[in-house]
Amino acid sequence: MQLTRRNLMKAGAMSLAAPLAGCVSTRLPGQALSGDIDAHSHVWSDDLEKYPLGPWATPADMKPATFTADELLAVMKTSGIERAVLIQHAPLHGYDNSYVLDCARKRPGTFSVVAMINERTPNLKERLADLCDQGARGIRIGPTKHADRTLNVDPPNWLNAPGMELLWKHAAELNVAVCPLLSPEFLPSVDAMCEKHPDTTVVIDHFGRIEMGSAEQARWLTQLAKHPNVYVKASAFRNFGDKRAPYGDLAPLIKLVFDAFGPSRMMWASDCPYQLNDGNNYTDAVALMRDGLDFLSDHDRRAILRYTAERVFFHG
Ligand SMILES: [Zn+2]
Repeated sequence: MQLTRRNLMKAGAMSLAAPLAGCVSTRLPGQALSGDIDAHSHVWSDDLEKYPLGPWATPADMKPATFTADELLAVMKTSGIERAVLIQHAPLHGYDNSYVLDCARKRPGTFSVVAMINERTPNLKERLADLCDQGARGIRIGPTKHADRTLNVDPPNWLNAPGMELLWKHAAELNVAVCPLLSPEFLPSVDAMCEKHPDTTVVIDHFGRIEMGSAEQARWLTQLAKHPNVYVKASAFRNFGDKRAPYGDLAPLIKLVFDAFGPSRMMWASDCPYQLNDGNNYTDAVALMRDGLDFLSDHDRRAILRYTAERVFFHG
């Protein structure tokens, strides 16, 4: 099958659960989708009256002091990236997704949202559907801490915790992706959960945070590829290898994911604003995916920079 945009989208539609009629599109009728996507960035506003910090946080935790949607767009523009998935930033705002949802509402088609929800809450499905109506296309989860900064009492069994089963079930029904941020030792627990929930779309953050060169951790990540609805973000380059631009040393890590999952289950992302610190930058991270890495074809690059994230996070 020729790898056209139409075919890619069709393939994606077949592999994802049908969305509920109640899920509204984040884009205006007739508005064209175009442009490459940064599938993972955080934003926050210094308007703390409108978007108050959680009780555990202070303005000193805002580093930088502000990183608004407009500031993110200015960074993206330097590299011709036109859309972004805004990831709820629990250290500042916990379960209060107001700012990222407002950003998506104000710029339909430009931003999608990965929100956070307390899976122990009553009426979980209704609350998930409400987030979906407001523009969320993913839910962020993690093994050690809840969004309100309370500790998970039993990290090894985090996916057996009350509510997780329901969250994965309803996420599939609502066509919302489950997005784990975890360290690699938790990857096998995701594997077991995917067995139980084959229809749930799962997007692993930042290469599963595996250590480059660890064969065991590489296996934990790549064994997830047998589940057709598992995706991996090639992201947060600042955390891997030399931990500085221009990132050519990450080629083996990116190839590992590419060989296991293929371009239609990989998406590039920056992890801004953190990607902008300590010898790291946005431009080189984009350039590696767009022009570096000679094992990638133009079609592969288009998928990794655009179509995969579009299918998972920018569907109506
Ligand atoms: Zn992040």
